[in-house]
Amino acid sequence: MTTDIETQVDLDAEAKRLDRAHVFHSWSAQGALDPLVLAGGSGSTVWDHAGNRYLDFSSQMVNVNIGHQHPAVVAAIKEQAEKLATIGPAIANLARGEAAERITDRAPTGMNKVFFTNGGADAVENAIRMARLHTGRDKIISRYRSYHGNTTAAVTATGDWRRIPNEYARGHVHVFGPYLYRSEFWATTPEEECERALHHLRRVIECEGPSTVAAILLESVPGTAGIMVPPPGYLPGVRALADEFGIKLILDEVMAGFGRTGEWFAFDAFGVTPDLITFAKGVNSGYVPIGGVVISDEIAATFDERVFPGGLTYSGHPLGAASIVATLDAMESEGIVENAKLIGADVLGPGLRDLAERHPVVGEARGSGVFWALELVADPATRAPLPPATMARAKAALVGAGLLPFIADNRIHVVPPCVVTAAEVDTALGIYDTVLSQLDEEL
Ligand code: PLP
Repeated sequence: MTTDIETQVDLDAEAKRLDRAHVFHSWSAQGALDPLVLAGGSGSTVWDHAGNRYLDFSSQMVNVNIGHQHPAVVAAIKEQAEKLATIGPAIANLARGEAAERITDRAPTGMNKVFFTNGGADAVENAIRMARLHTGRDKIISRYRSYHGNTTAAVTATGDWRRIPNEYARGHVHVFGPYLYRSEFWATTPEEECERALHHLRRVIECEGPSTVAAILLESVPGTAGIMVPPPGYLPGVRALADEFGIKLILDEVMAGFGRTGEWFAFDAFGVTPDLITFAKGVNSGYVPIGGVVISDEIAATFDERVFPGGLTYSGHPLGAASIVATLDAMESEGIVENAKLIGADVLGPGLRDLAERHPVVGEARGSGVFWALELVADPATRAPLPPATMARAKAALVGAGLLPFIADNRIHVVPPCVVTAAEVDTALGIYDTVLSQLDEEL
């Protein structure tokens, strides 16, 4: 006879066996993969079948902003599934309309329409399409250090290595953005970095031919590429350049939006209004796949008479829509965005800066809200990135200590759910501290 715990361990083993036999994973050489098994979660904690628990300081793909298994969101999905589980994109439906209204209520004045997609990449894809059709121009300027998704235009707009094997879309131009720690502009202050990054952008627009540029596409705060909060003048400066040359501004809020930075939209902290906003992830914490584009009235009007040549079978899927309504209502009534802001300002930010001061392996701690990066370096003087093998050991040590980390290149992204508590942050800081001490010793 097997005991309960043996059965549960068997479930973990079976999940792993099935995964390795049949599941093909994203962005990976498949051979060496050894994925963690997860079976349940609540708030900022997840666990496997055997009951091993982990603090989820990755929020999975930086998307579970409301935490795992929020009861109101789970209930809303169940309720909608029982009423009407699916409908076509051309139908008017209460959940769909309410979801769009909840989002536009939080968007800047003059942005009143939402085009729903299946996730973030196709949101970016369709925002690019709208900007091109609206302006009659072709080129899209985006940053080298960026990630915009896995569809053709979105991945070609992306700055990181994932663009290179997938670069089939035309008309994409890249620029460097502000990143003082590894300045491309020999800058020594945020003001210099900002001014020089804007000058560089202006020169690229002028050299590309301003009348050929449809849009500038930027993550409000670049996420996967390193959580580089821009200096205060950068986004307003980009907005001014876009206006000067009749270019549209697309701000990608897929990762930074809906609470992550301690704001509803990350750009709220910078006093700018984009023409198009792309969103996904935090809008419903990924309980059901959904994303979309918030559209300015001016761009929306282009398609009042003219057909918009784009669409998806699942645009505005009712389960996704119902989960958005429940998520945004719960985030509002439970003060979840405010919690992210306060935790960032009072606990997580000070704690991570303290780690950066005490551990030579941490080159820089930066971020806001629950959106932080620890940049790890092999040599604090040269800022040489910590090599991949050492980062892999750091990841294993963090998981071994009960913390699920988000590792990107030579960085630990510290990105817990927006509902994280001060006590959970303290526990996590203790785990990071121990692992960073081990890395210091290796240096
Ligand atoms: N845009 C940004 C800023 C992202 O971080 C991501 C995903 O990480 C995407 C777009 C693509 O979203 P999805 O994976 O839902 O297609």
